[in-house]
Amino acid sequence: MGNGRQGVTDVIETMSAVVGRDAATAPVAGSGGRRPAGDVTDGATATEVLLTYAAGNPARRQETGLRGALPAPPALGVAVVACMDARLNVEALLGLGEGDAHILRNAGGVITTDVVRSLAVSQNALGTKEIILLHHTGCGMETITDVGFRDQLERDTGVRPEWSVQAFENVADDVRLSLRILRSSPFLQATTSVRGFIYEVDTGALVEVPL
Ligand SMILES: [Zn+2]
Repeated sequence: MGNGRQGVTDVIETMSAVVGRDAATAPVAGSGGRRPAGDVTDGATATEVLLTYAAGNPARRQETGLRGALPAPPALGVAVVACMDARLNVEALLGLGEGDAHILRNAGGVITTDVVRSLAVSQNALGTKEIILLHHTGCGMETITDVGFRDQLERDTGVRPEWSVQAFENVADDVRLSLRILRSSPFLQATTSVRGFIYEVDTGALVEVPL
């Protein structure tokens, strides 16, 4: 397993750099103008608006020439582990389409046991070989602590969570920790490239974090 500098990851990085420049020069706007499903109006929930848009998906899919199911193994052989932050639009950032990649998301984009489980399936059952880690500036996980958040939940609910919050103080440090965990996992031996990045929410650019 090496830090491959060739391959799909490099292509995606180049594509996202273009996206970043566009985002940096675009006028500041709310997401409403660019959301295909449109605005949420009085009397409808966001879920209802989104489901109305989703109902048109079979027709839109046909218009793009897609017929039937694509193969389950991701076409690019890539798995992305990203924070769930709403400003990090992984598909748009990397130019990913249907069938291209596995995208695993959680609070912080941290490497949990379940992320390792999913990556193990991704690699060993569905053939991916490259991993991209995406953290970002302004992450909420930098603003809480494990003990503090667990204390708060226990105070508010009477139940202390058994899970670790996996908060972090420094986003770059957590990217490096995540890279080390992935590189040392016995279940991810198929990895040919694993690289970590911080997405800048103010410019839309990606900055790589060297190990
Ligand atoms: Zn985040």
